Amino acid sequence: MTACHGLALAGRWCGTPAACGRGRLYGGGDAPLLAGVLTADRGAALSSDVVNYAPFTLLPSAVPRALFEQAYAVQQDFNLLVDAISQNKEFLEQTLASTIKVDDFTAQLFRIYMQVLEEGLAQTVFLGINRSDYMFDCGLDGTAALKQIEINTIAASFGGLTSRTADVHGLVLKVLGKTKEASRLLPNNPSKGLALGIAKAWELYGSQSAVVMFLVEEIQRNIFDQRCVENELWNRNIRVIRRRFRDVFEKGSLDGSRRLYIDGQEVAVVYYREGYVPQTYDQQNWAARVLLERSRAVKCPDIATQLAGTKKVQQELSRPGTLEKLLPGHPEAVARMRATFAGLYSLDEGEEGDKIAAAAIADPERFVLKPQREGGGNNLYGEELRQVLEKIKDSPERTSYILMDKIKPQPALNYLLRAHSPLQVSECISELGIFGVYVRQGQEMVLNEAAGHLLRTKAIQHADGGVAAGVAVLDTPYLV
Ligand code: ADP
Ligand code: MG
Repeated sequence: MTACHGLALAGRWCGTPAACGRGRLYGGGDAPLLAGVLTADRGAALSSDVVNYAPFTLLPSAVPRALFEQAYAVQQDFNLLVDAISQNKEFLEQTLASTIKVDDFTAQLFRIYMQVLEEGLAQTVFLGINRSDYMFDCGLDGTAALKQIEINTIAASFGGLTSRTADVHGLVLKVLGKTKEASRLLPNNPSKGLALGIAKAWELYGSQSAVVMFLVEEIQRNIFDQRCVENELWNRNIRVIRRRFRDVFEKGSLDGSRRLYIDGQEVAVVYYREGYVPQTYDQQNWAARVLLERSRAVKCPDIATQLAGTKKVQQELSRPGTLEKLLPGHPEAVARMRATFAGLYSLDEGEEGDKIAAAAIADPERFVLKPQREGGGNNLYGEELRQVLEKIKDSPERTSYILMDKIKPQPALNYLLRAHSPLQVSECISELGIFGVYVRQGQEMVLNEAAGHLLRTKAIQHADGGVAAGVAVLDTPYLV
């Protein structure tokens, strides 16, 4: 049993905000800047030449050790599961059938998926980098439980910066005279684990002269996070290039055996840090995506794995019997995964959907309404949830959403630091992410690992949103 209460470290370590303010002399902007926890400054020019520190908590947040260990212990299972879904055409087809009738973006991804299957896959090596996110749900009996928010199967970010965040928090604790506590912070290096997976896929692709291509955004705010992973690859003497979709459209091509070339260089691995929101794609960028998917290059993720990460798939996974069908012969893995599931509900047309829609309209505080979108800021809560659901409850549009039980963690005080903003003490909740990496060659899993963790913390007045959305900040778990 893990208790919800007694997890606020701010009071224990600082006493008052003023006392922590003294820590800021060393633990403010200087510490993350020195450690390389950087982001492009949000000035007018938005260029990686003008940097600031990425937002962070002044103090590490308490995380129950048992739940932290549980999250690590289930990560290889989730890797296996995502990989199994990506190879199961029947499951993806059935699960997404209702969604693609009403959601154009998912429908377009699905069309590309069918197109590459029809042509036959040229790709033989598969690389998955995902991040499974959790919150610590505080039950009525006062115990905390690990509940999954979602799995990100494309462009899961902050593995780079979080590899450097523990150093910042270690320094802050020392400044506060908490040397023993500082020494208890766990080492954490997702950069290395992610790069290891990319390097393995590159090696199995089997062409010494081929490069790894990071597929990046037009406006690259989070470039330093990506560079942390990139550097690990250069350290292994693997060449990395950074390109946007439009570069691929203009300069990408396939040869007779569907090897991918860009600017005359063969590409072994395409690591997407972009491509998960509809706004990315105009007609040219869709054409670029098709070219990449048809190629022999190892896509991280391939389009099937991106579809495996949709909210609709997540909801179907929670149905009794689904995990068992997807992973026959793995009853222990199934039990470990199911233990982390919150209540998830289909809004497909029919009696089941009618009932849950009515329940959510009657008691919106119990639920979160989620469309098939990634990147934060898309979910609906409370009164807004009620209004939207009321409006669409009798229309097919309803099926583009899913409902999820709202997870209610116990808040704790912490200090949120953001460049250009004053130090702020807030009631906060945290979200723990575990990075998973796997590589499959043909039918053989050659690598399956948990690669490190990410803790993000936000003030409780924000229902939604991650670090990139300007809501959450980087944190370090302090196990209790
Ligand atoms: P996205 O793909 O946009 O990141 P998420 O499912 O991760 O979508 O939701 C975004 C944020 O909304 C989460 O980081 C979390 O803060 C909040 N959230 C999502 N689902 C729940 C839930 N069931 N209960 C409480 N908060 C949630
Ligand atoms: Mg999320």
